[in-house]
Amino acid sequence: IFIVLVLKIAYYIDDLQNLAGFREIVENGVKVDYMTPDFPSLSYPNYYSLMTGRYCEVHQMTGNNMWDKDTMKEFLIGTNPDSRLPMWWDGSEPLWVTMQKLGKRVYMYYWPGCEVTILGVRPTFCEEYVYNPSEKNLTDSMESALNMLKSDKADMAGIYYEKIDVEGHHFGPRSPEIQRAIRSLDQAFQILHQKIKEKNMRDDINVVLFSDHGMTELKWMEKVIELDKYIDMSHIVKMMDRGPVVSVWPKQDKFEEIYQNLSSVDNMNVYKKQEIPHRFHYKNGRFVSTLTLVAEPGWFITENKAKLPFWNNGTEKAVGWQHGWHGYDNEFMDMRGFFLAQGPDFKTNFRAGPIRTVDVYNVLCKALGIEPLPNNGSWSRVECMLRSSAGAVRAALIYSFLLLLLLLPH
Ligand SMILES: [Zn+2]
Repeated sequence: IFIVLVLKIAYYIDDLQNLAGFREIVENGVKVDYMTPDFPSLSYPNYYSLMTGRYCEVHQMTGNNMWDKDTMKEFLIGTNPDSRLPMWWDGSEPLWVTMQKLGKRVYMYYWPGCEVTILGVRPTFCEEYVYNPSEKNLTDSMESALNMLKSDKADMAGIYYEKIDVEGHHFGPRSPEIQRAIRSLDQAFQILHQKIKEKNMRDDINVVLFSDHGMTELKWMEKVIELDKYIDMSHIVKMMDRGPVVSVWPKQDKFEEIYQNLSSVDNMNVYKKQEIPHRFHYKNGRFVSTLTLVAEPGWFITENKAKLPFWNNGTEKAVGWQHGWHGYDNEFMDMRGFFLAQGPDFKTNFRAGPIRTVDVYNVLCKALGIEPLPNNGSWSRVECMLRSSAGAVRAALIYSFLLLLLLLPH
């Protein structure tokens, strides 16, 4: 444990010295120790926890890939027509919908879900999500967002950037590739600071940066659980996703047999719906399967290796498909995300303790000067970071992207 702490301090010094864009936010704003994601520590569930302040079983966005047994429709990560159906999104009202209903104007760039009509409402502007927006997409979005806020056409802007996540999956959380991606993101922040100064907006704009989850290293060849080694896959009506959390609906007459067989598998837990630990705040979700499989950190569950893309089938050489993953138990340290904020509503050079994903919503509502809807966030964990005058400034510019805490100053 002591060695890990020393390593973290090493990262801290190293990163602060090399990341001037991040450093400026840390020195002039708020930084929390870390942010614990919601379970599962995957993207879509946490996007919605961030924007609603509610646990996954409350807002109903319980996976990156979901199945509705009544309509037989699928929600799939990325761009898929059925994923725009209101039933996946209407479980809770996200912040931007509340803003629009109050007559405020929200601009969103590459933000997953901004293209969807939620509870009958869409944001004023939505640059639709595309896979892995480029660095130019990011800096162009920043420029556009600043102009819209400055000219009073927008009351809030949100930008989504996923390159850090993409590099983390491909090369692993400790790779030179991810460090390069973080450095170029830092350069984008330096440009942002410069533009805010040039436009004379420093006293008017809150900038909030956060991630939806962390990332852990995947020992690809060694830690794969192949379900077809334990069960007859023809007894499964439906299986969704692969990786740390897998949803399974067995045939009714085979349910107990499948459950027993999966219970014997090492490095993985299998839960009947009502046996899922309460602390995950997941089991009451409408789209949760009759059996949920949760892998131990670093392990990957799939039907069979050969069915994975780019799996180098039949050769000894480990040509890894992916080297990083997330989605595990949300208390697992590597799943932690980060939260930084700077602006007139936030204290300067302020260090706060750990917060949770569901806490962010209350911070945003306060800074935007709107009344939060009922939520699962804790006000006592976040009140400390805000100035007592918070809420007086109208505009908030929100940046969202995926980043790893281990590689960040903390
Ligand atoms: Zn990811």
